[in-house]
Amino acid sequence: MNSRTPKFIFITGGVVSSLGKGLASASLASIFISRGFKVRLRKLDPYLNVDPGTMSPYQHGECFVTDDGAETDLDLGHYERFTGVDSRKSDNVTTGKIYSQVLKKERRGDYLGATIQVIPHVTDAIKKFILSDINDEDFMFCEIGGTVGDIESLPFIEAIRQLRNDLGKENTCFVHVTLLPFINAAKELKTKPTQHSVKELQGMGIQPDILLCRTELKIPNDQKKKIAQFCNVIEEAVIEAIDVNSIYKVPIAYHESGFDKQILKYFNLSYDKSPDLSVWKKIISIQSSSDGEVNIGVVGKYTSIIDSYKSLIEAITHGGIANKTKVNLVWIDSENIDINFDCFKDVNGIIVPGGFGERGSNGKILAINYARLNKIPFLGICLGMQLAVIEFARNVMEIKDASSTEFGKTTFPVISLLTEWQTKKGKEKRDILSEYGGTMRLGSYECRLDKNSKIYNIYKNKIIYERHRHRYEVNLDLCENFFEKGMNFAGMSPDNILPETLELNDHPWFIAVQFHPELKSKPFQPHPLFISFINASLNQSRLL
Ligand code: GLN
Repeated sequence: MNSRTPKFIFITGGVVSSLGKGLASASLASIFISRGFKVRLRKLDPYLNVDPGTMSPYQHGECFVTDDGAETDLDLGHYERFTGVDSRKSDNVTTGKIYSQVLKKERRGDYLGATIQVIPHVTDAIKKFILSDINDEDFMFCEIGGTVGDIESLPFIEAIRQLRNDLGKENTCFVHVTLLPFINAAKELKTKPTQHSVKELQGMGIQPDILLCRTELKIPNDQKKKIAQFCNVIEEAVIEAIDVNSIYKVPIAYHESGFDKQILKYFNLSYDKSPDLSVWKKIISIQSSSDGEVNIGVVGKYTSIIDSYKSLIEAITHGGIANKTKVNLVWIDSENIDINFDCFKDVNGIIVPGGFGERGSNGKILAINYARLNKIPFLGICLGMQLAVIEFARNVMEIKDASSTEFGKTTFPVISLLTEWQTKKGKEKRDILSEYGGTMRLGSYECRLDKNSKIYNIYKNKIIYERHRHRYEVNLDLCENFFEKGMNFAGMSPDNILPETLELNDHPWFIAVQFHPELKSKPFQPHPLFISFINASLNQSRLL
């Protein structure tokens, strides 16, 4: 298409939260990619936090990190995994960030004494964000977080309403995602909540062009007709989004429901040729015919909220796909690990993922100790690597007080707060008094791998780039003689100061990394560490 002005698709949600708007946006965008278009996805979050970096995983799920170091909503993870397009800082904004920009300008006197109001100042800032940093994209997908009717999302809805006038109907399309609940007593899908939600949108000046209706069952034609009539859309624009048992089936299901066709039709673009969805077909066929099975134990503090480990779960699944293996996840609460290690009885591999704070760390150290001594494949990620260093220091090097400064005062801080580090833009500084939000080592950093290492054989590359999100680092000065006892820091920062990976020489598969490899894994391009880890776990299962 290659037009200078991209087409904007605004996605709102109604009726209830957790309708899978993020996945819907990502799936739709992936079909457009298969059709040869260039796309970007953006998320506008109505909450007041400046970014989700300081939000508890219990409340908000995982915080996704981009290459350029933005801490973002987990939906950006779906976007990247479904489209392969790297998200940027400019792809996620919150009410908090918009207001801080507006207030900063106000304090600087940029508004020349004007009274600052939601309309036009806040809505202008939102519109500016939506229109910023666009290159040669054909389609911009902008998802509005929350549910229509929330107080917080009003300025965002108003901003996209104005954009329809600014950019024209021919450049903007409103998609509204709703729910058709099935009422068992009546044996019927109900359209009323959708009608109400659309009415609410209409009250704010937005007439949706397309309705994506989440449903457990097929929508009968008369119900579609009814929705179209009551919601003032054409019948073809009522798209069925039926529940499927794997997220990788969503792009195909949406295409079969005519979702992409309807959008192309709306924009007067040709839709005759079918998109090439073979990547998704291949993934689904592997998933339904896997010939092995492994149990992977994930030891963490947030195991009751699996959204906290969204990218990790996905990356493990991708590793399973690459090995044609079904992966069963065994969630192990790090605060409930008993000394008999019963919870590890049936696991073929153990992961200790990222995390914050001391609570649960002793359980994680026990898990690492168990994996090390029993030669169970082990992958440590971020905090998981830091705890692997502490476990080794305490139990192999016999330094009982070895710990992290994150957990309080210690005489032997093998993990400590890093106060200065090098970025592409120069030196960054941080100390104990730094603000909590946005003061971590964030985003993509180079790491150099030793050619004589297990990890090099996995990546088959000397220089790798991975994403970080942490405050503390391995204190190499205190770990220098670990090598003689078998712990090899095979991946280092380019200046050779920060250990980025470790491995045990005398173990079939014991690797830990300071970065988050799960953030870059894709279903159609599984991450090498996860491919290798699942493979090792599969080998372990065959030993039993
Ligand atoms: N809490 C650790 C740190 O801040 C690890 C963070 C993480 O696992 N993402 O360094």
